[in-house]
Amino acid sequence: MSVREQIFDAIEREEQRQKNGLEMIASENFVSDDVRRVCGSVLTNKYAEGYPGKRYYGGCAYYDEIENLARNAACDIFGAAHANVQPHSGATANFAAYTALLRPGDKVVAMSLDHGGHLTHGSKVNFSGRLYDMVPYGVEADTGRIDYDKLEALVEAERPKLLVAGASAYAREINFKRMGAIAKQVGAKFMVDMAHIAGLVATGYHQNPVPYADVVTSTTHKTLRGPRGGLILCTSELAKKIDSRVFPGAQGGPLMHQVAAKAICFAEAKMGDFKTYQMHVVENAKVLAESLSNLGYDLVSGGTDNHLVLVDLRPKGVTGADAEHALEAAGMTTNKNKIPFDPMSAQVTSGLRLGTPALTTRGMDADAFRQIASWIDQAISSREDAQALHQIRLAVDAFAQQFPMFCLNGERSQG
Ligand SMILES: *Cc1c(COP(=O)(O)O)cnc(C)c1O
Repeated sequence: MSVREQIFDAIEREEQRQKNGLEMIASENFVSDDVRRVCGSVLTNKYAEGYPGKRYYGGCAYYDEIENLARNAACDIFGAAHANVQPHSGATANFAAYTALLRPGDKVVAMSLDHGGHLTHGSKVNFSGRLYDMVPYGVEADTGRIDYDKLEALVEAERPKLLVAGASAYAREINFKRMGAIAKQVGAKFMVDMAHIAGLVATGYHQNPVPYADVVTSTTHKTLRGPRGGLILCTSELAKKIDSRVFPGAQGGPLMHQVAAKAICFAEAKMGDFKTYQMHVVENAKVLAESLSNLGYDLVSGGTDNHLVLVDLRPKGVTGADAEHALEAAGMTTNKNKIPFDPMSAQVTSGLRLGTPALTTRGMDADAFRQIASWIDQAISSREDAQALHQIRLAVDAFAQQFPMFCLNGERSQG
């Protein structure tokens, strides 16, 4: 086979994998046919460095139109004064935001990766940990939650330039209002990274950080269910600075096919069925959490307020890595994840992170998630029995095939 044939063949097999399996990685989703079509459009062909009305290349009239539609829609959904829709990813959005708010060496208080934060919140192996003086906060051992009084004391003692809220593995609602007030007390800027929860925020299922934060960064491909990419919202005072730190500060030409697909995603997020979808995402996560609890699993913080569940596997005597492998063999895609105060390394871990956004997009309901919890338990219990895992996989495949990749209000798409 030629490389071309091999690539198309790999895509075909990946499509089958996505259709046949159960996708439970909390940061993943399935986009609409419209989003996919726009990502693959002729908009990939052209340079558009700069911003609408101020491009460094000719022929950008339609790109100006598209970027303005995307910016306005983003501001509209989240009630923001300004939006930059050019960041190639969430990490790039954070890079640009930090460089707008900080100088190298400045102190930043952000959530520790080990307690649910993101790499870009100060990990030593990331630019954030290398460029800035990062002071981590975490959750309490007994509650699995942020203690805001303790956070306030930490911020008062450290007096950082910037306080960062947001996480990749935190199952509880974050009190942005309180954190904004804590930052203000010491004259620090407040940034919220809502990458995981943007879809919940857009529909009122999570507190909106925009009224309390100087800058809000996000991805567009997690609960927001758009194309892969980043987004920055900010106050009008910071608009010019944020724009200049995205381009030319951090990036060259924007990926305008992705920008146009972000506009489609924002338009979809305004539709009534998107709100119903997010309601089901949250309900399904609660059902998954309850069902796993009933099967004897410990959950960090005891449950969930959002789209994800973080399972503490220690009482079951299995590591996150072994559970992830068993589930994959049984047709369920998840990821091992550190739990707060995890004695195991990041390659092994004691936890498993599960999310409901992708399967809820396929139309799966509470009953489906009860069934899935039972398969998860069976697969983890029979993790050394290849035959048993294969049997679960057959049942999972047959079940998954009943659901389309993308399902809007009962209307099934061909994708
Ligand atoms: C996913 C995530 C990011 C990074 O997004 P990428 O598009 O993978 O770069 C940043 N912050 C948080 C909190 C995330 O969960």
